[in-house]
Amino acid sequence: MLTYEQKEKIKDELIKKVPNLTCPMCQNKGFTMADGYFLNSMQADLNSVNLGGEAIPTIAVICNNCGFVSQHALGSLGLLPKEAKTDEPK
Ligand SMILES: [Zn+2]
Repeated sequence: MLTYEQKEKIKDELIKKVPNLTCPMCQNKGFTMADGYFLNSMQADLNSVNLGGEAIPTIAVICNNCGFVSQHALGSLGLLPKEAKTDEPK
């Protein structure tokens, strides 16, 4: 799903912010990047699901040892177009 170039850009930005990426659960240093973005839909009501509203797009990295999934907001990594940023206060 993600191209090689997309993955390399994400990896470069993530390494800039977290140079010694270590699993918080098992202290392993090997990870696999998910082959697509996660879209965390914002919800104002716990009794219904609203799709297509505001969301926080992330990339997930998965610990190769214990499977811990770490999500990183694309906006914080500088990887969102300006108009798509959803993590800035209005
Ligand atoms: Zn781990």
